[in-house]
Amino acid sequence: MQNNIENSLSSYALKSKDTKGREYKEETPKLRSEFQRDRERIIHSTAFRRLEYKTQVFVNHEGDMYRTRLTHTIEVAQISRAASRALMLNEDLTEAISLAHDLGHTPFGHAGQDILNKCMKDFGGFEHNIQSLRIIEKLENKYASFSGLNLCFETREGILKKCSKTRAKNLGSVGRRFIDKKQASLEAQLTNVCDEIAYNNHDIQDGVKAKKIFLEQLESLPIFSNQMKKVLKKYPKLVGSKIINETVRLIINLLINDLINNSNENIKNKNIITPDDVRNCDNLIISFSDEIKKLNMELKKFLYANLYKHTDVIKMTDQANLIIENLFSAYVNDTKLLPSDYIQYNLLKINSGFKERVICDYIAGMTDRFALLEYSCLLYTSPSPRDKR
Ligand code: MG
Repeated sequence: MQNNIENSLSSYALKSKDTKGREYKEETPKLRSEFQRDRERIIHSTAFRRLEYKTQVFVNHEGDMYRTRLTHTIEVAQISRAASRALMLNEDLTEAISLAHDLGHTPFGHAGQDILNKCMKDFGGFEHNIQSLRIIEKLENKYASFSGLNLCFETREGILKKCSKTRAKNLGSVGRRFIDKKQASLEAQLTNVCDEIAYNNHDIQDGVKAKKIFLEQLESLPIFSNQMKKVLKKYPKLVGSKIINETVRLIINLLINDLINNSNENIKNKNIITPDDVRNCDNLIISFSDEIKKLNMELKKFLYANLYKHTDVIKMTDQANLIIENLFSAYVNDTKLLPSDYIQYNLLKINSGFKERVICDYIAGMTDRFALLEYSCLLYTSPSPRDKR
């Protein structure tokens, strides 16, 4: 049944029947495609559930109305699935990659990643994208026959968005394309752009709600003011947050329509017929037109300068540094502070010189609220929050 659905996809879409397979061989599913099974394994993973309490831009306890890493992920999956269908690509694969793309994020967002990378500088460093792969290949611990989720090659490779050649050499077949300078699948390329569409636009809404950026500032951006004019022409009496929300809605439509049209043009101009043509192409196929690329870049620069570098958002960096540095050094000095079952499971790694990596994995897996509680327990030498669960 699934193969019939996949037969209606374009010739350059990746199909389940052509998968390079899973590391541990499993029976072919009867009622769903291989990529559907991947998507469902990701949803059932521990790392996916924890996204609910991980920072996107605003720390979880700052308010209930802001995006979390989980709601961001769901928005990416929604946008990329719709675009995938319009481009006749494999929706199941696109959705699986989208749902897993941020699994490796630490508590406290990018600030958490930077400080954990600093803590790990003598032990191989830390990067959230590589950590997403590490989670699905090794760290998820629920299946009897294998560690990780045993996902298809195409899903694993699609999650690895960027990677240095040095790191790629240690990642086996999924790192190969970075050494051979090949392109990712169209499904993976699409997820990357849809990630950007999602966060740029929801960060406008959250930034305004948090009073870190203002409508008057946004009006200086052509991508925003052009769409806002259309909104006000249609609804002249509109006020407040509805202006922002309607404008953001039009911006997302503008970006997706341009992305689909321009990518279809690229497919035609580059004579893309098969997934291998995509892989061997010199450039990315999924991309905006030059005009929209420029407008989108202005929006990104605006958000960087006015939201991500806002004094109040930067304050979180100081808090993340303090908490993560202290947790890391406390566990390095005394591994007994880690849960006993976690030590037991990782004993071989700890005794073989990988203690810091085991600790890094533990901290990276924490939610914001767990890291805060664990830190305060260490500070006041009270029982860890995990003992109360
Ligand atoms: Mg993301």
